[in-house]
Amino acid sequence: MIKLKNIQKIYGKKDNPCHALNGIDLQIEDGALTAITGPSGSGKSTLLNILGCLDTATSGTYMLNGNSVNDLSPKEKSILRNTQIGFVVQDFALIDKYTVYQNVLLPIQYSKKNQKNKKETIKRMLEKLEIADKINEYPNNLSGGQKQRVAIARALINSPEIILADEPTGALDQKTGTEVMKLLKDINRQGKTVIIVTHDPKVAGQCNKNIHIIDGKIDSII
Ligand code: ADP
Ligand code: MG
Repeated sequence: MIKLKNIQKIYGKKDNPCHALNGIDLQIEDGALTAITGPSGSGKSTLLNILGCLDTATSGTYMLNGNSVNDLSPKEKSILRNTQIGFVVQDFALIDKYTVYQNVLLPIQYSKKNQKNKKETIKRMLEKLEIADKINEYPNNLSGGQKQRVAIARALINSPEIILADEPTGALDQKTGTEVMKLLKDINRQGKTVIIVTHDPKVAGQCNKNIHIIDGKIDSII
């Protein structure tokens, strides 16, 4: 379970602060399928980055499964990020000079988990996402939809309990976006917590809960 209490995020210097989040209180149950919506600049990505331990709140508390994330050292945070959280972003964030295989391998290497059978594990994950035939291909030779599948494979490879997706369909045509959304819903059906930042009402409509943010504050939860 995710619990945020009075989360604030201020960017920039004291003389020119940018208040990106202004007191977010939020609870997300295990296994939920949640959308975060709101206008551009409202703080959606900032919130997701804090949830994903990619960034730290300026103040407030973040509890994950009863443990305070605030109290973790940078090293503990990075382990948490690499083992319990999978991140998918709009521009895929694949490394161009690495093959599909090498891109999906990265989180396994970071997690320092038992690396036995890693090739087999990666192959199986790519098969599930129907891109196994691209295993030795470089990202530049893939379509947008294929790149996003690789990015999802990479996010899932360590079997994280939480999948965070920042505009995962934003760079895709409608048909491909629908396929990616179907994948995320499948992952949720397998019991994972999925949180999706989206501009698309159709995507938000497929989630069980919709958290709408305006000016760094929760406007409504429906
Ligand atoms: P959204 O994802 O909803 O479009 P963001 O979370 O990206 O919004 O941004 C919220 C606010 O914080 C915006 O005003 C944005 O300009 C500002 N902001 C985001 N990231 C940074 C940063 N790294 N440094 C300074 N300001 C930032
Ligand atoms: Mg954003």
